[in-house]
Amino acid sequence: MCEARATITEIFGSNVFSDAVMRERLPKNIYKSFKKVLDGIEDLTPAVADVLANAMKDWAIEKGATHYCHWFQPMTGLTAEKHDSFISPTPEGRTLMEFSGKELIRGEPDASSFPSGGLRVTFEARGYTAWDCTSPVFIKEDGKNITMYIPSAFCSYTGEALDKKAPMLRSMDALNKQAIRVLNALGNTSVRRVMGTLGPEQEYFLIDRRFYEKRLDLVLAGRTLFGAPSPRGQEMDDHYFGTLHERIASFMNEVNTELWKLGVSAKTQHNEVSPAQYELAPVFATVNVATDHNQLTMETLRKVAIRHGFVCLLHEKPFAGVNGSGKHNNWSLVTDTGINLLDPGLTPHDNMVFLVFLCAVVRAVDKYANLLRASVATAGNEHRLGANEAPPAIVSIFLGDQLTDIFGQLAAGDAKSSRQGGELRLGISTLPPLPKDCTDRNRTSPFAFTGNKFEFRMVGSTQSTSGPTFVLNTIVADVLSEIADELENNGDVNATVQKVLKKIATEHARIIFNGDNYCADWVVEAEKRGLPNIVSTVESLNTIMDAENVAVFGRHKVLSETELKARADILLEAYSMTTNIEAKTMLSIARRQILPAAARYSGRLGDAIGSVSAAGVSAGTQKKMLEEISALMTDLSAGIANLEAAVAKSGAIEDCADQAGAFRDIVIPAMEKVREASDGLELIVDADLWPLPTYAEMLFVK
Ligand code: ADP
Ligand code: MG
Repeated sequence: MCEARATITEIFGSNVFSDAVMRERLPKNIYKSFKKVLDGIEDLTPAVADVLANAMKDWAIEKGATHYCHWFQPMTGLTAEKHDSFISPTPEGRTLMEFSGKELIRGEPDASSFPSGGLRVTFEARGYTAWDCTSPVFIKEDGKNITMYIPSAFCSYTGEALDKKAPMLRSMDALNKQAIRVLNALGNTSVRRVMGTLGPEQEYFLIDRRFYEKRLDLVLAGRTLFGAPSPRGQEMDDHYFGTLHERIASFMNEVNTELWKLGVSAKTQHNEVSPAQYELAPVFATVNVATDHNQLTMETLRKVAIRHGFVCLLHEKPFAGVNGSGKHNNWSLVTDTGINLLDPGLTPHDNMVFLVFLCAVVRAVDKYANLLRASVATAGNEHRLGANEAPPAIVSIFLGDQLTDIFGQLAAGDAKSSRQGGELRLGISTLPPLPKDCTDRNRTSPFAFTGNKFEFRMVGSTQSTSGPTFVLNTIVADVLSEIADELENNGDVNATVQKVLKKIATEHARIIFNGDNYCADWVVEAEKRGLPNIVSTVESLNTIMDAENVAVFGRHKVLSETELKARADILLEAYSMTTNIEAKTMLSIARRQILPAAARYSGRLGDAIGSVSAAGVSAGTQKKMLEEISALMTDLSAGIANLEAAVAKSGAIEDCADQAGAFRDIVIPAMEKVREASDGLELIVDADLWPLPTYAEMLFVK
């Protein structure tokens, strides 16, 4: 026991250039200066950077590293890296191992092949990566290759953000600035910094690699484009939290070890609702570190899966008919003095700081619901949001009984009491009475208050957590700035707070919904309340450039109008490209695998009909089978022609919004038709001839 524990503590963070490593390896004055840089008090000087770089290099080389890289997050939503070795040849034919402060701080990748939404053209290839010193440098072992990774932001020659980190860092500054103003106005002058915290729960599927390799749709599109439902799905509710299969448990064990080495605090693991679906959650961290760590988590899941003969599917909807995967972004605000600003305490009604921050989030989410919705709008996520699955596309907030009651009291004028939870007795003398929470949970809400944080559940499983998080940071910063204005301009703080909260509780009561978000009544009710319900990704992305969104990003210097427009275009293009790849993959599989299999089978049936009839026996059943197959083959071949035309037509459209609209309106329905005919064939074609592994095999065979 003790030995195992000692090992984990040794492993954890062993590949991170952490605070502890810095304290050990840096001269005291350099360490102190760098801490001030991290706290935003001082700028990083070239002298400090040089000493830091040298210490990092020595540390990395001791760990076997030969290369370093600036690790950044372009708009693909993935990460990017270009490795440079530490070697610096000498005239005598030997080599020194060198790494300067300049190389640490700045990289200069040729950036013309990353999506930029028109912000840069190919002949202007220069881009910069800039070290984000708030996210620690780490070492990654990929096979025999050991490399030092420097988390970085990525921008164009003219300083426009081309990535997912720059706006995140800017939004953190905005949030910090406005939160401090509010806290100061409320009389708290000891807090120096406020940070967003994030704990993303990551859902994923694992299937055997044998099946994956036989499915071009999984290989190229990450999801199944064909597949009749398995006779058994998730209806038994027996997978969620079920006992871990030994092969899965071994996989998880190795994932944890790899993540712990990188300082990622993998904490929770369990089976999810759908068969073959699982979840991993870390202990939360500040938003940008958590986002970097989530990228490492997704990469590690994929990498370790292969080692175990699995493939990890991170797509939002790899299989139709069973649950898809999301990422629950747990988000809160913490001060440098360790206060969670969204912790209600025992008597939230008299916790003024909590109520102000809670109400700020409520107002931000209601006011910018469309922007929040757009932050999770992708082709993959479209199969979840609003498509008979959790959560719906309508943004609403779950507050729970206790806080909803207080919210009501605020609207009426003043909050005077908090309902208490009490005790839960199970009527079994040997079990202790359990303290009961003052509110139940709600699993269906897209944006739920869960004890001392909000949980944004609309985020897609493949998505970077950056977008949804920097949107949340920015819109909350904006409302905090409004509140700070009020508080700073009025003498009586208590009276002003009461007035501000009353206004918020009255104006935004409509966004609070504690009921079942899946039921059809809610859609009707939400419409009555005037809440938007934007089901389609394209429609949602088209709201990004609405005036209030451009304004809010501009006010807080998170994204300029040009940067925002580039992002909107990139997202629309990504929608079209994803759908285009799916459609072309579908055509290839339908033409080269499914139709031929059906033709082979119908040929066999034809032969059988001939020989059986020749033997003087009725071939009625065979004839019926052949007719059924032939009818579906006719549908499939018509579907193929129709899809091909739809792809050609949509592909020819120039404007990216129009094109994305065409992919949604013509290509997706055409894909559905092809799938319908093919899935019909799957159910009746000889299993030995069927070319694709089935849902039952992929979901249930381990
Ligand atoms: P559940 O599935 O019950 O919602 P999990 O334990 O799977 O809960 O995940 C909860 C996540 O919320 C964890 O990543 C946890 O670290 C994170 N979390 C807890 N407190 C905070 C906080 N103050 N800020 C951000 N995330 C938090
Ligand atoms: Mg969970």
